[in-house]
Amino acid sequence: MTITFLGTAAANAFPEAFCKCRNCIQARILGGPSLRKRSAALINNDLLIDLGPDIMAASQMQGCPLDDVRYCLQTHPHADHLDLSHLLSRSPSYGVVGAPILDFYASRETLELAAETFERDLAGYSLLSSEAEKHLNLKIHQIQPLEPFTVGPYSVMTFPANHAPGMGAMLYAIEAAGCSVFYGTDTAPLFDQTWQTFRQQKMRFDVVILDHTYGPEQPGTDHLSAHQVIEHANRMRSEGLVGSHARVFATHIAHEGNPAHPDLAEFAKQHGYQVAYDGLVLKV
Ligand SMILES: [Zn+2]
Ligand SMILES: [Zn+2]
Ligand SMILES: [Zn+2]
Repeated sequence: MTITFLGTAAANAFPEAFCKCRNCIQARILGGPSLRKRSAALINNDLLIDLGPDIMAASQMQGCPLDDVRYCLQTHPHADHLDLSHLLSRSPSYGVVGAPILDFYASRETLELAAETFERDLAGYSLLSSEAEKHLNLKIHQIQPLEPFTVGPYSVMTFPANHAPGMGAMLYAIEAAGCSVFYGTDTAPLFDQTWQTFRQQKMRFDVVILDHTYGPEQPGTDHLSAHQVIEHANRMRSEGLVGSHARVFATHIAHEGNPAHPDLAEFAKQHGYQVAYDGLVLKV
């Protein structure tokens, strides 16, 4: 399995274009891995996690076309994770050639909110109508928390995120060809039920990707902080949920409280995890 990070920033990107804070200034000076777009990831070449606002830019900058993407797992409808205009721009009526039908998976709440926005702001018809499926080369799938399902070659398990109450935010465990990855953003500390399900299902992850919105000196709120990431990683290790060669990566990194990449990566190294950056490709 290959995991490509298309974006690793929190909602306001890093550097935040309008910001003069120390972290943003430092990120501009350093460039490279310190420049982060809004979070999204690609598994192999066909499974996208989040139809995010920066995926077009990421695709161009990283030389990573999304023309083989057949499946999208949507975490939630927050604007830093879902830009519905991509559904129009990838459709045949916008001149797109050869894109496969997109199987789009999201919770009922995410789909209802997306449908409302799409009809009101973008197309004049509902995202949940047969019209949408026909015009957009799209198939919508409603998914439930804690219910496994199959997406092409992938076995997927959903977990309710501790984030955005009422929006049906989801976290995903994705398994294929004997490799397993947990994609855990956006979320505050995982619910007890999630830990229970990890144990009941005897899950064992090769790669764990966690929300790291808040930095080493900040408390977590509706997202995880650096210290909470460390606690989650330690708990996963002590409960045998990760193999001995497993790697834990931070993503969804905000400019407030997180230093530019080299300093954050050094902090992470000292605490047993790694920091993802835009364009990082993991071979699992
Ligand atoms: Zn977010
Ligand atoms: Zn800043
Ligand atoms: Zn969010």
